[in-house]
Amino acid sequence: MTDCLFCRIVRGELPATVVLDTEHLLAFRDIHPQAPTHVVVVPKTHYDNAVELATADPALAGELVAAAGQVAKADGLDSFRLVTNTGAEAGQSVFHVHLHVLGGRALGHLG
Ligand code: 5GP
Repeated sequence: MTDCLFCRIVRGELPATVVLDTEHLLAFRDIHPQAPTHVVVVPKTHYDNAVELATADPALAGELVAAAGQVAKADGLDSFRLVTNTGAEAGQSVFHVHLHVLGGRALGHLG
């Protein structure tokens, strides 16, 4: 996945505002924030989406969610939204699994 955007950020080939960097995960601020806190958390290993990740490596999927909680806490949030889009029709535009961490403003009910 040499030309995957988030793989390139993980490798440090593209700039990003990194807020968490662990052995398996990287979290960085979204370039088009939809809320005062908008961070994407990605595994350093490429998986196309959350289902693929959780099927192949459930422990890493759990790490991803736990890291999202750490990111929220570091931004002073105890109320936040985690979103992962799966497939273009659902709004996925980068096909490297990522959890959006959104918070810092009131977020409406879904649906
Ligand atoms: P998706 O649409 O796949 O759910 O989410 C992809 C997210 O990646 C979008 O919120 C988009 O703003 C963000 N994004 C796209 N390109 C870049 C980039 O080069 N740097 C950063 N930090 N975020 C990006």
